Amino acid sequence: MLLDEMVERGLPEETRMMRDVTRKFVNEHVIPFTRQNWQQEWKMTPEDRLPRRILEVADEIGIRTPGVPEEFGGTPIDPKTEVQTFAVISEEISRGDCGLSDKMVQIWKVSVLLRNVAPRHLQEKWFPEVVKDPTFLLAHCLTEPRGASDRWLPYNVPEAAMNTRAVLKGDRWVINGRKQFISNGYDAKLYVVYANTNPKAGILQGTSSFLVPRGTKGFSVMRCNETLGGRFMNNGEMVFEDMELPKDHLLVEGTALSRAGVYFRPGKIIQGSKNLGVAVRAFEETAKYVQNYVQGGRILIKHQATAIRVAEMATKICAVRGLLREASRAVDENSPEAEVLCNMVKLYASEAVLEVCKHAMELHGGNGTMLDFGIEKLYRDASMFLHMDGTVDVTKFKIVKNLFPDTAGKYAGPEA
Ligand SMILES: Cc1cc2nc3c(=O)[nH]c(=O)nc-3n(C[C@H](O)[C@H](O)[C@H](O)COP(=O)(O)OP(=O)(O)OC[C@H]3O[C@@H](n4cnc5c(N)ncnc54)[C@H](O)[C@@H]3O)c2cc1C
Repeated sequence: MLLDEMVERGLPEETRMMRDVTRKFVNEHVIPFTRQNWQQEWKMTPEDRLPRRILEVADEIGIRTPGVPEEFGGTPIDPKTEVQTFAVISEEISRGDCGLSDKMVQIWKVSVLLRNVAPRHLQEKWFPEVVKDPTFLLAHCLTEPRGASDRWLPYNVPEAAMNTRAVLKGDRWVINGRKQFISNGYDAKLYVVYANTNPKAGILQGTSSFLVPRGTKGFSVMRCNETLGGRFMNNGEMVFEDMELPKDHLLVEGTALSRAGVYFRPGKIIQGSKNLGVAVRAFEETAKYVQNYVQGGRILIKHQATAIRVAEMATKICAVRGLLREASRAVDENSPEAEVLCNMVKLYASEAVLEVCKHAMELHGGNGTMLDFGIEKLYRDASMFLHMDGTVDVTKFKIVKNLFPDTAGKYAGPEA
């Protein structure tokens, strides 16, 4: 199909190769699993929601550990096109299931963060653990019950700081607090946790990050959140009660949020590409349906009202893809416009992909709403993206801050 040829254009060779390997895996393992019973995502327990074998195959073909440095056994990826490659792999996995994509991308993103900010001894201890166990998941814990938007804007005033507190006592950090909505939070084995270490400072100077192994005394996973979409990823909530961590498990003191750009920027790209994968699947399924299903004596696509919807779906997909390519190249090249483009991708992809899936629902009629057709799943999955990596409204505000740094960008606390 023409849309596929557009996918090819301008892709670096290694990225294309990773895309092909991932596509084969998705077609042979992921799609057959989800198709086998559309109701399984509602009936399985969090523990057995995704077969171990799928993670093992993902590991065998090398799409689980890009981001882990090669010296520790991670999949080698050209750093010059790393984010472009992440984008294409996550799009492909998401075409099969976006929850599986969520599971994987957290491993890549947190690995990139750790290789940038973790002291050498922690890298030497934990990266080999990630590599040797195909079920080893990583999580990144920022959001708290009081709300996450203040962390995204961010309001750099003490009142908007993290509620989770870390206090240094002798040679140990003592951490108290709660995190919610965390991807892989229910079943990860290693967590990056953000906490306030200076209540007098604003969030940009008073937030530190820590590496927390599962099983640390005082750390409990409270629940697996039951979500509308992305259900094959276990989203979790956790509590820290006088949790003691060795002093050397500190990653960044004070400026943890500013140093996490290496996580956030690729994060928005990957978010957009997960969206895109869902839209591509919705388009593929719809293209088949409207060229076979007959109403009014002809196949649906021959009705102009249908054709208009299909054209809109295809155009939105290409527009998301174009913006994604531009933004992921900007991140790989560390260009000054990378941040605004990343926010634009997050914004545009969240809204456009939901529209694409809405057309898919419309064109499938009643079948679209039935659990045994798979279209309602794509619509549910797409709706999740509105709130991941920041809300749509907060992302718009960030774009304006990026565009007008001297006026809107200064809004980070009371006006002078
Ligand atoms: C599936 C899923 C996975 C997630 N994974 C993770 C994860 O791995 N790690 C993690 O740390 N977090 C994670 N999150 C949390 C996510 O980042 C937050 O949900 C998101 O940033 C929004 O924060 P909130 O839900 O607290 O909403 P709130 O901040 O409470 O916002 C509520 C509403 O108020 C609006 N609002 C807030 N502030 C303003 C303002 N100043 N101006 C105008 N409007 C405003 C928002 O736009 C929104 O409409 C995940 C969320 C979901 C749904």
